Amino acid sequence: MPPKTRAKKAKTPTIAIPEAIRLLTDQYGPFPQEPRLDPAHEMVFTILSQHTSDINSERAFRSLMNRFGSINAVTQANVDEIESAISVGGLAKIKAPRIKAILTRVLELNEDSLDLSFLAEMPLDEAKAWLRQLPGIGPKSAGIILNFSLGMPAMAIDTHIYRVSQRLGLIGPKVNVDKAHDLLEAVVDPEQVFPFHVCFVTHGRQTCKALRPLCEDCVISFGCPSRERIQGLSKDTKPAAPKQKQRRKGKLTQLPHTPQITEQEK
Ligand code: SF4
Repeated sequence: MPPKTRAKKAKTPTIAIPEAIRLLTDQYGPFPQEPRLDPAHEMVFTILSQHTSDINSERAFRSLMNRFGSINAVTQANVDEIESAISVGGLAKIKAPRIKAILTRVLELNEDSLDLSFLAEMPLDEAKAWLRQLPGIGPKSAGIILNFSLGMPAMAIDTHIYRVSQRLGLIGPKVNVDKAHDLLEAVVDPEQVFPFHVCFVTHGRQTCKALRPLCEDCVISFGCPSRERIQGLSKDTKPAAPKQKQRRKGKLTQLPHTPQITEQEK
């Protein structure tokens, strides 16, 4: 009879978040915080980017601005006119009424103004709650508006950040994406929320892909508890040392979720 083997609990490798950000910035960055849209424009751009590629959401946003000139003018348009203006980006039938509804609601709640700069004066939780009362604004959209437009330390978790964070063991496998916002916001330094966002999105797009993650090229593989399972490696195989300043082909020319903007839209 073969001797019984006792299942050993493997140690879980971990990487500190600041170290991951440093290595990923070295790999894909730098990621300067570019001038952003004001919050109302950012809100509309965020809706246009839902379930849409960066290229198509940028096209739709540019077409909307070319047609109406400003978000204030969009509030006067009817749904059909908005739909026609954003049709180049796809899902226009869903997004046009959403844009109309959200802008109408902002005007109702904010004394007929689209100026949302007051959110920056609020505690983060209150600013998030204010945005979350608007139709179509979930935690991710609220996080993008507050972080990208107003520089507040709000987390915005997209599918890439969620996947990379799970594989790195920063969140558990059963944590849903809404809860992930709170958990990651609690452990990422407020000063590092923006770099965390862009580093993890870029890593998820370029290396830690959904179907075939390129673990052999990953600069943070030494701290990833999923690497052995994904690569089918023995626990004794040492991960490669992180590569310094070795950039992948096709480096980003534009940050994730960053529309080209005009002076009037800032
Ligand atoms: S080692 Fe693989 S699974 Fe882990 S973060 Fe890197 S690419 Fe993703």
